[in-house]
Amino acid sequence: MGDEATEELTEEQRSEDEAADGPSVPQEGDAGAHAGSGHGEPDKSAKQTEEEPAPSRAEISNYEIVEHWFNVAAEHLDLPDDIAAVLRSSYREVQVQVPVRLGDGKLHVFSGYRVQHNGARGPYKGGIRFHPEVDLDEVRALAELMTWKTAVVNIPYGGAKGGVNVDPSKLEKREVESVARSFMDKIEKVLGPQRDIPAPDVGTNAQVMAWLMDEYGKLHGHTPACVTGKPIALEGSFGREAATGRGVVQVFCEAAPEIDLDPSDATFVLQGFGNVGAWAARLMQELGAKMVGVADASGAIAGRDGIDAEKLADHVRDGGKVTDFDTGADEIDPDDLVALECDVFIPAALGGMLHNGNADRMQCRMVVEGANSPTTPKADEILNEKGIFIVPDVLANAGGVVVSYFEWVQNLQHFRWGEDEVNERLGEIMRRAFREVADRAHENDTPMRPAAYELGIERVVEAASTRGYI
Ligand code: NAD
Repeated sequence: MGDEATEELTEEQRSEDEAADGPSVPQEGDAGAHAGSGHGEPDKSAKQTEEEPAPSRAEISNYEIVEHWFNVAAEHLDLPDDIAAVLRSSYREVQVQVPVRLGDGKLHVFSGYRVQHNGARGPYKGGIRFHPEVDLDEVRALAELMTWKTAVVNIPYGGAKGGVNVDPSKLEKREVESVARSFMDKIEKVLGPQRDIPAPDVGTNAQVMAWLMDEYGKLHGHTPACVTGKPIALEGSFGREAATGRGVVQVFCEAAPEIDLDPSDATFVLQGFGNVGAWAARLMQELGAKMVGVADASGAIAGRDGIDAEKLADHVRDGGKVTDFDTGADEIDPDDLVALECDVFIPAALGGMLHNGNADRMQCRMVVEGANSPTTPKADEILNEKGIFIVPDVLANAGGVVVSYFEWVQNLQHFRWGEDEVNERLGEIMRRAFREVADRAHENDTPMRPAAYELGIERVVEAASTRGYI
């Protein structure tokens, strides 16, 4: 596909009950059984574990979640099995060792991954995550999600994702820099502005992108378009840092009339207060909406009178945790965050956080998925039964990759757009994508998620078959 030579692809083995009755909902607790399906052995790479107390997460992998939705859409689209097998597997999966000498004087070996899922619609595009739980299955799932996401918002990219199983919060800044540079040295051959363009994700930021660009430049000459999400001083785009959160809020405004909600009257809860969460919270507050609960990895707080998102963002930027925020809000059990009464719940942390064990406790009217794969298929079923309107990740959090696309376009032209122009163009794309998905959902009488997957898959199939790849 694209500039690449073809590779042998393995046919996915579908279980008999899936073939007969349609894709079954993966049961939480089964994780691992189908991990790696269609790609060889389940991933057994080393992982470190979280030490912070955290709310419960599903035992189902991101990979199983994405595969489930792909299977549902493929069946509804009547996609032939051989075509589905190509789209279900990745084009290329690279795993590398990332040896770094840390401050203790010892060499530590981390595992780094870059998965390129499908490049029919353009160069591969997707973030790089630094997190102790990163493994091949997770990166594979997130790469596939990027293929459908870039197609849903109709920007000319394929889907990719990368990551290193490192906890950057436990490293010195120069150690994080060494991890970033070492990782780039190992994967640069499969990257490039016309081939695959990384961006920030969980645990990485503009500074990490600057180191990646610099390392790539040592080998290829100054190439700002090789990564996006860079600092403004290094040809980053105005508006990129806020873009994912802004896109979440733009689709929320489009979705609100679907449940007769006035955005300026809404109450909301945020799970995760990093790049996506903090921006979404501030922009929701700008609309007049009120944050009544929020969590990060340190724990959760709640307050019916509202928690000031601007002040909380300043506090977190200065190194504070959500639970140290002195506002009169009460600390609550992180597991109880999902049960807070509100209009909108915005997951903006990790995958699998809304699951079989907590979905029926949710008391919101709408979920707007800032995070990738935050809702398991079982939870999705429960939320739909409860009449909760879900704006799925493939649509809701696409604002980041849309402005990454703008950054790449600006870099290729060595020309910079103003922030208002970026935000305006982002809004146009997000609103159009929302409308296209919502129209299809109304037409098919389905929720938004299957409609979004179908739209994305159809566009990729059209591009791949027009090229003659499938
Ligand atoms: P980030 O690292 O900036 O923030 C993650 C936040 O989640 C932090 O506040 C962290 O403390 C919190 N968190 C971690 N574990 C938690 C837990 N168990 N409970 C509650 N909070 C927890 O990451 P980000 O860039 O904001 O990404 C968040 C999500 O959005 C991820 O799923 C990511 O894949 C997705 N996403 C990000 C972008 C982007 O542009 N950054 C784009 C699309 C999707």
